[in-house]
Amino acid sequence: MSQPFPPTRQWSLIALLLVLLAGGFLATSLVSYYTALESIRAGIINTELPLTSDNVYSEIQKDLVRPILISSMMSRDTYMRDWVLAGEQGTEQITRYLREVQEHYITVTSFFVSEKTHTYYQAKGVLKQVNEADSRDAWYFRVRDMQTPYEISVDADMANQDRLTVFINYKVFDYDQRFIGATGVGLTVDAVVDLIDTYQQRYKRSVFFVDTEGRVVLTGAKGGPSGAKVGQSLSELPGLEDLMAKLANPQNSNFEYQEHGREHFLNVRFIPELNWYLLVDKHENGALTGIRKSLYINLLICLLVTLIVISLVGFALRRYQQRITALATTDLLTELPNRRGFNLLANQAVQEARRNQDTLCALMLDLDNFKQLNDSQGHLAGDAVLRGFAANLQSAVREADILCRWGGEEFILLLKNTSVEQARELGKKIREQTERSHFNYNGIDLQITTSIGLAQLQPNEVLEQLIARADRALYRAKQSGRNRLCEEAHG
Ligand code: GH3
Ligand code: MG
Ligand code: MG
Repeated sequence: MSQPFPPTRQWSLIALLLVLLAGGFLATSLVSYYTALESIRAGIINTELPLTSDNVYSEIQKDLVRPILISSMMSRDTYMRDWVLAGEQGTEQITRYLREVQEHYITVTSFFVSEKTHTYYQAKGVLKQVNEADSRDAWYFRVRDMQTPYEISVDADMANQDRLTVFINYKVFDYDQRFIGATGVGLTVDAVVDLIDTYQQRYKRSVFFVDTEGRVVLTGAKGGPSGAKVGQSLSELPGLEDLMAKLANPQNSNFEYQEHGREHFLNVRFIPELNWYLLVDKHENGALTGIRKSLYINLLICLLVTLIVISLVGFALRRYQQRITALATTDLLTELPNRRGFNLLANQAVQEARRNQDTLCALMLDLDNFKQLNDSQGHLAGDAVLRGFAANLQSAVREADILCRWGGEEFILLLKNTSVEQARELGKKIREQTERSHFNYNGIDLQITTSIGLAQLQPNEVLEQLIARADRALYRAKQSGRNRLCEEAHG
């Protein structure tokens, strides 16, 4: 039997649909995901991080650059230099000066260390004598020998219970450019750390400072990214090992790097006043969770739609297949199985009967003088009689019996588990019922009779042989006057 869509063709159609739908959905979802990803990335790199950096920078300028300016002014203060050059007479004078600076500019400490006497002056008086052998005084000798006019260092403040302090250490020269000491102010790091913590909480990104050698110099209270502590080198931080090499020249730049599989965005700004780099770091997890979630939702919807479409198509195809099969095996006029439909069922029934040694009978029916009816009443009247006769036949047989319009005005009835006696009985009933029946076409009353041939399935007989014998019996019924049932002798 030829089918319009053989199963393999159906499967490849469904597979093709699946590939098209899933591929199309996947492509649009991924394209929109990556577009959103790109725009978020670009937003972080081009806008968010530089803006944070700007904000932090302007705050830092207020908080750190101001003490640098104060220290610079102190280093050029003629009153202080004159006092030193005059032989450091009267500690009270310099202390008052330092106290004025400290109170007026609200710094934690202010100091002057004399090169001539190695005396460390601060707001409360003389603190100590600096000594080259004391490691805690090393800063002074470093400042004395450095090339630049000042440095910023984070150190313990001896004048303030060793609290961590950012010192601005300025060199002081006399009017002939000879080094005469170091001066400056200090801020506790706590204040700066608080500042950084505020930024970190407010902007949800880590803010930290790194010196030109790549050492972390300032972080928030909880450390920098990956918990980096002050004094640690960038080369010890995952993903940032080779950052310093990329920062060969002081410059502002953006980086993307991986830390334990997490994508990071990093903005680096060089702050010339501090000679430090300001790093603002943001990891993508937080930033991209939203669009990742919508990607998953998108994919889920696509999966559902694909499944629904595929099952609908599969269902429709199966229905279509069933309809086509039914059409191909059904006679349109009588709605009985046609010869093709009959063969499928009848062959099966014959095999079953032979296997189980069941009785099986065939009745072959042919309407009598049907041509005459057609000729006298018209073809459509003939059709009406065929339909009516088929309907009667259908209602006279059991569910298990196999009925078919063999062709024209011939019908076959295959009766399972039926003896010749029972078949004869049924044939008689059909013949009599047909004789009594009145069919109506356009108000015209039509009547017909039928001749019937009966044969019983013999051992080792195939369907064709059984039908041939029933046909012979039918021929005899016609020969012997029609409207009767004849049986084909066994064998
Ligand atoms: P007999 O008693 O010997 O069977 O005579 P008959 O006229 O019935 O037999 P015959 O084989 O000579 O004619 C059968 C007619 O049935 C001829 C054909 O046109 C008609 N026929 C076949 N199929 C249809 C159909 O679907 N509708 C109609 N109206 N007539 C049909
Ligand atoms: Mg005929
Ligand atoms: Mg006939």
